[in-house]
Amino acid sequence: MLMTKQTVRDFFKQFPDDDTCLQHLFDVRYGDSHECKKCGTIGKFHRLKDHKAFSCQKCGDHIHPMAGTIYEGSTTPLQLWFYAMFLFTKSRNGVSGKELQRQLGVTYKTAWRMGHKIREHMARVDGDAPLGGSGKIVEVDETYIGGRKKGAYGGKGKAIVQGMLEHGGEIITHVTTDTKSKTLIKNITDHVKSGTEIHTDELPAYSRLSYSTEYTHKKVNHAGKQYVGPKGETTNSIEGFFMHLKRTIKGTHIWVSAKHLHSYTGEAEFIYNRRNEPHRILNDLLYGYPKG
Ligand SMILES: [Zn+2]
Repeated sequence: MLMTKQTVRDFFKQFPDDDTCLQHLFDVRYGDSHECKKCGTIGKFHRLKDHKAFSCQKCGDHIHPMAGTIYEGSTTPLQLWFYAMFLFTKSRNGVSGKELQRQLGVTYKTAWRMGHKIREHMARVDGDAPLGGSGKIVEVDETYIGGRKKGAYGGKGKAIVQGMLEHGGEIITHVTTDTKSKTLIKNITDHVKSGTEIHTDELPAYSRLSYSTEYTHKKVNHAGKQYVGPKGETTNSIEGFFMHLKRTIKGTHIWVSAKHLHSYTGEAEFIYNRRNEPHRILNDLLYGYPKG
């Protein structure tokens, strides 16, 4: 399923070559009124021939637009990077290293690294603005992902993903190594505003929330298949998100290590948080660089 209407023809019209991509990166990060940090001259930079850099016309100070971005140190052409991001926006279930290798004509190692960096970029662009607030509902739940052994709870090598999802709003996920009350509740207090109504399952780790003066806590009984409680409490949305995340990992990537899981959850978050504005997906990636 296509997530944006931008076609491959549109893409190559906007970014016909590496120079256009580098100019775009310079424009987004520095703009045409950038002040030279060495001599103070404003907006007088020109592209250096044979270098991926710009130079101040007055003092000759250099700006390297790729520095401080996911492209830093990469020898892969910038246009391939941009095109890889375009491919990410065209897929509902992520893009595997194999697929990138095939589409870009690079080695698997390079393709895997690019995919990883693009996911990191997505997570950074997405950020983690606090959720909830007075009158808002945030569902909190956790799931086990990966690992080489079977077993629903605590299976060896499995990583835990805790998710916090605001009804009608955004999601924040965290990869954790345990389900201790201290760990799970700290993530909530770090990311959920006070005054929020929080829905969780009956995991004892969340019990402390019931005594919280900051939040209203409602529990959902999973075991009894009571997915929507008598007062409308539910964790259905966060469970739907986890199901999609697991399908993506299993279907596209087959297996991911606990060490790298955060980048896949970061990607899922980035996409989920733009579900109602799919046109933002590619734009946010192509314009979401640290300012120079
Ligand atoms: Zn200068």
